[in-house]
Amino acid sequence: MLKIENLHVKLEEEDKQILKGIDLHVPYGEVHAIMGPNGSGKSTLSYVLSGRDGYEVTEGSAQLEGEDLLDLEPEERAAAGLFLAFQYPVEIPGVGNMTFLRTAVNAQRKARGEEELSAGDFLKAVRAKAKTLKIDSEMLKRPVNVGFSGGEKKRNEILQMAMLEPKMCILDETDSGLDVDAMKLVSEGVNALRGPDRGFLVITHYQRLLDHIKPDVVHIMANGRIVKSGGPELALEVETNGYGDIIGEVA
Ligand code: ADP
Ligand code: MG
Ligand code: MG
Repeated sequence: MLKIENLHVKLEEEDKQILKGIDLHVPYGEVHAIMGPNGSGKSTLSYVLSGRDGYEVTEGSAQLEGEDLLDLEPEERAAAGLFLAFQYPVEIPGVGNMTFLRTAVNAQRKARGEEELSAGDFLKAVRAKAKTLKIDSEMLKRPVNVGFSGGEKKRNEILQMAMLEPKMCILDETDSGLDVDAMKLVSEGVNALRGPDRGFLVITHYQRLLDHIKPDVVHIMANGRIVKSGGPELALEVETNGYGDIIGEVA
Protein backbone atom coordinates (compact mmCIF):
# COMPACT_ATOMS: atom_id res chain seq x y z
CA MET A 1 0.00 0.00 0.00
CA LEU A 2 0.88 3.65 -0.22
CA LYS A 3 1.46 4.94 3.28
CA ILE A 4 1.90 8.65 3.87
CA GLU A 5 2.48 9.81 7.42
CA ASN A 6 2.60 13.30 8.84
CA LEU A 7 3.96 14.66 5.56
CA HIS A 8 5.07 18.28 5.76
CA VAL A 9 6.36 19.99 2.63
CA LYS A 10 7.59 23.50 1.94
CA LEU A 11 8.79 25.22 -1.19
CA GLU A 12 12.55 25.11 -1.61
CA GLU A 13 12.75 28.68 -2.93
CA GLU A 14 10.49 30.43 -0.46
CA ASP A 15 9.62 29.89 3.13
CA LYS A 16 6.14 28.68 2.28
CA GLN A 17 4.68 25.61 3.94
CA ILE A 18 2.28 23.87 1.56
CA LEU A 19 1.57 20.45 3.07
CA LYS A 20 1.01 20.60 6.81
CA GLY A 21 0.81 17.02 8.00
CA ILE A 22 -0.81 14.65 5.51
CA ASP A 23 -1.76 11.14 6.68
CA LEU A 24 -3.01 8.81 4.00
CA HIS A 25 -3.09 5.04 3.55
CA VAL A 26 -4.14 3.67 0.18
CA PRO A 27 -4.22 -0.15 0.16
CA TYR A 28 -3.98 -2.08 -3.09
CA GLY A 29 -7.40 -2.81 -4.46
CA GLU A 30 -8.84 0.53 -3.37
CA VAL A 31 -9.57 3.82 -5.07
CA HIS A 32 -9.17 6.89 -2.89
CA ALA A 33 -10.31 10.27 -4.13
CA ILE A 34 -8.87 13.54 -2.95
CA MET A 35 -11.07 16.57 -3.44
CA GLY A 36 -10.48 20.10 -2.33
CA PRO A 37 -10.53 23.75 -3.34
CA ASN A 38 -7.90 25.19 -5.65
CA GLY A 39 -4.63 25.85 -3.91
CA SER A 40 -5.13 23.31 -1.13
CA GLY A 41 -2.00 21.36 -2.09
CA LYS A 42 -3.39 18.45 -4.11
CA SER A 43 -0.94 18.79 -7.00
CA THR A 44 1.91 19.44 -4.60
CA LEU A 45 1.19 16.11 -2.92
CA SER A 46 1.29 14.30 -6.26
CA TYR A 47 4.51 16.09 -7.28
CA VAL A 48 6.27 15.34 -4.00
CA LEU A 49 5.31 11.67 -4.23
CA SER A 50 6.63 11.41 -7.77
CA GLY A 51 9.87 13.29 -7.02
CA ARG A 52 9.58 16.67 -8.68
CA ASP A 53 12.28 19.21 -7.78
CA GLY A 54 11.55 22.39 -5.88
CA TYR A 55 9.99 20.97 -2.73
CA GLU A 56 11.51 20.18 0.63
CA VAL A 57 10.06 17.54 2.92
CA THR A 58 10.48 18.97 6.41
CA GLU A 59 8.75 16.17 8.33
CA GLY A 60 7.02 12.84 7.78
CA SER A 61 7.33 9.96 5.33
CA ALA A 62 5.88 8.33 2.24
CA GLN A 63 6.29 4.63 1.59
CA LEU A 64 5.18 2.23 -1.10
CA GLU A 65 5.15 -1.36 0.14
CA GLY A 66 7.37 -0.31 3.01
CA GLU A 67 9.98 1.25 0.74
CA ASP A 68 10.75 4.88 1.45
CA LEU A 69 9.78 6.75 -1.71
CA LEU A 70 11.23 10.09 -0.72
CA ASP A 71 14.82 8.78 -0.89
CA LEU A 72 14.42 7.59 -4.47
CA GLU A 73 14.99 9.28 -7.84
CA PRO A 74 11.81 9.79 -9.90
CA GLU A 75 12.68 6.88 -12.23
CA GLU A 76 13.30 4.63 -9.23
CA ARG A 77 9.88 5.55 -7.86
CA ALA A 78 8.38 4.62 -11.23
CA ALA A 79 10.24 1.30 -11.19
CA ALA A 80 8.90 0.73 -7.67
CA GLY A 81 5.41 0.97 -9.17
CA LEU A 82 4.35 4.59 -8.83
CA PHE A 83 2.69 6.44 -11.70
CA LEU A 84 1.48 10.02 -11.95
CA ALA A 85 -0.94 11.21 -14.62
CA PHE A 86 -0.30 14.94 -14.79
CA GLN A 87 -2.89 17.66 -14.37
CA TYR A 88 -1.08 19.40 -17.23
CA PRO A 89 0.58 16.78 -19.49
CA VAL A 90 3.86 18.02 -20.92
CA GLU A 91 4.56 18.29 -24.66
CA ILE A 92 7.85 16.72 -25.73
CA PRO A 93 8.75 17.90 -29.24
CA GLY A 94 11.09 15.61 -31.17
CA VAL A 95 10.23 12.47 -29.18
CA GLY A 96 7.77 10.15 -30.88
CA ASN A 97 4.93 8.92 -28.69
CA MET A 98 5.62 5.29 -29.56
CA THR A 99 9.36 5.65 -28.90
CA PHE A 100 8.61 7.33 -25.58
CA LEU A 101 6.26 4.55 -24.50
CA ARG A 102 8.58 1.76 -25.57
CA THR A 103 11.59 3.36 -23.87
CA ALA A 104 9.63 3.88 -20.65
CA VAL A 105 8.21 0.36 -20.62
CA ASN A 106 11.56 -1.26 -21.28
CA ALA A 107 13.45 0.94 -18.80
CA GLN A 108 10.94 -0.10 -16.16
CA ARG A 109 11.16 -3.78 -17.06
CA LYS A 110 14.93 -3.56 -16.89
CA ALA A 111 14.83 -1.88 -13.48
CA ARG A 112 12.62 -4.75 -12.29
CA GLY A 113 14.97 -7.37 -13.70
CA GLU A 114 12.53 -8.40 -16.45
CA GLU A 115 13.32 -8.93 -20.12
CA GLU A 116 12.61 -6.20 -22.65
CA LEU A 117 9.43 -6.58 -24.69
CA SER A 118 10.13 -7.54 -28.30
CA ALA A 119 9.13 -4.96 -30.90
CA GLY A 120 6.25 -7.19 -31.97
CA ASP A 121 4.89 -7.77 -28.49
CA PHE A 122 5.17 -4.09 -27.67
CA LEU A 123 3.30 -3.07 -30.83
CA LYS A 124 0.55 -5.57 -30.17
CA ALA A 125 0.11 -4.36 -26.60
CA VAL A 126 0.17 -0.67 -27.42
CA ARG A 127 -2.26 -1.03 -30.33
CA ALA A 128 -4.75 -2.98 -28.25
CA LYS A 129 -4.66 -0.49 -25.38
CA ALA A 130 -4.72 2.53 -27.69
CA LYS A 131 -7.79 1.14 -29.41
CA THR A 132 -9.82 0.93 -26.22
CA LEU A 133 -8.88 4.55 -25.49
CA LYS A 134 -9.79 5.56 -29.07
CA ILE A 135 -6.23 6.76 -29.69
CA ASP A 136 -5.54 6.36 -33.39
CA SER A 137 -2.23 5.24 -34.89
CA GLU A 138 -1.58 8.78 -36.14
CA MET A 139 -1.43 9.97 -32.50
CA LEU A 140 1.02 7.20 -31.67
CA LYS A 141 3.40 8.42 -34.36
CA ARG A 142 3.34 12.09 -33.42
CA PRO A 143 5.70 13.65 -30.85
CA VAL A 144 4.46 13.18 -27.28
CA ASN A 145 1.42 15.40 -26.69
CA VAL A 146 2.50 17.97 -29.30
CA GLY A 147 -0.61 19.49 -30.86
CA PHE A 148 -2.86 17.06 -28.96
CA SER A 149 -6.18 18.42 -27.71
CA GLY A 150 -6.77 18.52 -23.95
CA GLY A 151 -8.77 15.31 -24.13
CA GLU A 152 -6.16 13.56 -26.28
CA LYS A 153 -3.43 14.47 -23.80
CA LYS A 154 -5.38 13.01 -20.91
CA ARG A 155 -6.16 9.83 -22.86
CA ASN A 156 -2.47 9.59 -23.69
CA GLU A 157 -1.67 9.75 -19.96
CA ILE A 158 -4.00 6.80 -19.40
CA LEU A 159 -2.33 4.93 -22.26
CA GLN A 160 1.04 5.42 -20.53
CA MET A 161 -0.50 4.17 -17.30
CA ALA A 162 -1.96 1.11 -19.01
CA MET A 163 1.38 0.28 -20.62
CA LEU A 164 3.44 0.73 -17.47
CA GLU A 165 1.05 -1.31 -15.29
CA PRO A 166 1.90 0.57 -12.07
CA LYS A 167 0.95 -0.59 -8.59
CA MET A 168 -0.08 2.84 -7.40
CA CYS A 169 -1.65 5.27 -9.84
CA ILE A 170 -2.05 8.94 -9.03
CA LEU A 171 -4.33 10.90 -11.32
CA ASP A 172 -4.17 14.64 -10.88
CA GLU A 173 -7.35 16.29 -12.15
CA THR A 174 -7.47 13.95 -15.11
CA ASP A 175 -11.02 15.17 -15.68
CA SER A 176 -10.22 18.86 -16.01
CA GLY A 177 -10.83 20.10 -19.53
CA LEU A 178 -12.54 16.90 -20.63
CA ASP A 179 -15.90 16.75 -22.35
CA VAL A 180 -18.35 14.06 -21.29
CA ASP A 181 -17.27 11.55 -23.95
CA ALA A 182 -13.57 11.95 -23.22
CA MET A 183 -14.26 11.61 -19.50
CA LYS A 184 -16.07 8.34 -20.15
CA LEU A 185 -13.15 7.00 -22.17
CA VAL A 186 -10.66 8.01 -19.50
CA SER A 187 -12.81 6.50 -16.75
CA GLU A 188 -13.23 3.24 -18.66
CA GLY A 189 -9.46 3.16 -19.11
CA VAL A 190 -8.98 3.58 -15.38
CA ASN A 191 -11.69 1.10 -14.42
CA ALA A 192 -10.15 -1.52 -16.71
CA LEU A 193 -6.97 -1.25 -14.63
CA ARG A 194 -8.68 -1.60 -11.26
CA GLY A 195 -7.81 -4.78 -9.44
CA PRO A 196 -6.63 -6.30 -6.17
CA ASP A 197 -2.96 -5.57 -6.88
CA ARG A 198 -3.31 -1.91 -7.70
CA GLY A 199 -4.29 1.22 -5.83
CA PHE A 200 -5.49 4.60 -7.10
CA LEU A 201 -5.33 8.10 -5.78
CA VAL A 202 -7.74 10.13 -7.87
CA ILE A 203 -7.44 13.87 -7.40
CA THR A 204 -10.40 15.80 -8.64
CA HIS A 205 -12.00 19.15 -8.13
CA TYR A 206 -15.47 17.97 -9.10
CA GLN A 207 -17.68 15.09 -8.14
CA ARG A 208 -18.65 14.15 -11.72
CA LEU A 209 -15.54 12.01 -12.36
CA LEU A 210 -16.47 9.93 -9.33
CA ASP A 211 -19.77 8.98 -10.99
CA HIS A 212 -17.60 7.00 -13.42
CA ILE A 213 -14.68 6.00 -11.20
CA LYS A 214 -16.40 4.89 -8.00
CA PRO A 215 -14.13 5.60 -5.04
CA ASP A 216 -13.90 3.50 -1.89
CA VAL A 217 -12.82 6.46 0.21
CA VAL A 218 -13.08 10.21 -0.31
CA HIS A 219 -10.76 12.68 1.39
CA ILE A 220 -11.25 16.41 1.52
CA MET A 221 -8.08 18.46 1.49
CA ALA A 222 -7.90 22.10 2.47
CA ASN A 223 -4.97 24.33 3.26
CA GLY A 224 -2.39 21.54 3.21
CA ARG A 225 -4.31 19.10 5.38
CA ILE A 226 -6.85 16.33 4.98
CA VAL A 227 -9.75 17.77 6.91
CA LYS A 228 -12.31 15.01 6.43
CA SER A 229 -12.48 11.44 5.10
CA GLY A 230 -15.53 9.33 4.35
CA GLY A 231 -17.29 7.22 1.77
CA PRO A 232 -18.52 8.21 -1.70
CA GLU A 233 -21.36 10.17 -0.07
CA LEU A 234 -18.81 12.78 0.99
CA ALA A 235 -18.25 13.69 -2.65
CA LEU A 236 -21.99 14.15 -3.13
CA GLU A 237 -22.11 16.36 -0.06
CA VAL A 238 -19.41 18.55 -1.63
CA GLU A 239 -21.35 18.67 -4.88
CA THR A 240 -24.47 19.87 -3.08
CA ASN A 241 -23.05 22.14 -0.41
CA GLY A 242 -19.58 23.12 -1.65
CA TYR A 243 -16.45 22.88 0.43
CA GLY A 244 -17.33 25.76 2.75
CA ASP A 245 -19.42 23.76 5.23
CA ILE A 246 -16.94 20.92 5.59
CA ILE A 247 -13.92 23.18 5.97
CA GLY A 248 -15.87 25.46 8.34
CA GLU A 249 -16.95 22.49 10.46
CA VAL A 250 -13.34 21.50 10.97
CA ALA A 251 -12.11 25.04 11.57
P1 ADP B 1 -4.08 22.39 -5.86
O1 ADP B 1 -3.52 21.36 -6.77
O2 ADP B 1 -4.86 21.83 -4.72
O3 ADP B 1 -4.87 23.43 -6.60
P2 ADP B 1 -1.32 23.20 -5.54
O4 ADP B 1 -0.62 22.05 -4.94
O5 ADP B 1 -1.15 23.44 -6.99
O6 ADP B 1 -2.85 23.15 -5.14
O7 ADP B 1 -0.85 24.53 -4.77
C1 ADP B 1 -0.90 24.66 -3.35
C2 ADP B 1 -0.37 26.02 -2.96
O8 ADP B 1 1.03 26.06 -3.14
C3 ADP B 1 -0.94 27.16 -3.75
O9 ADP B 1 -1.08 28.26 -2.88
C4 ADP B 1 0.12 27.40 -4.79
O10 ADP B 1 0.10 28.74 -5.23
C5 ADP B 1 1.39 27.12 -4.00
N1 ADP B 1 2.49 26.62 -4.84
C6 ADP B 1 2.66 25.36 -5.32
N2 ADP B 1 3.79 25.24 -6.03
C7 ADP B 1 4.35 26.48 -6.01
C8 ADP B 1 5.55 27.03 -6.56
N3 ADP B 1 6.40 26.28 -7.26
N4 ADP B 1 5.80 28.34 -6.33
C9 ADP B 1 4.95 29.09 -5.61
N5 ADP B 1 3.82 28.64 -5.06
C10 ADP B 1 3.52 27.37 -5.25
MG1 MG C 1 -5.25 23.77 -8.85
MG1 MG D 1 -3.74 20.95 -8.80
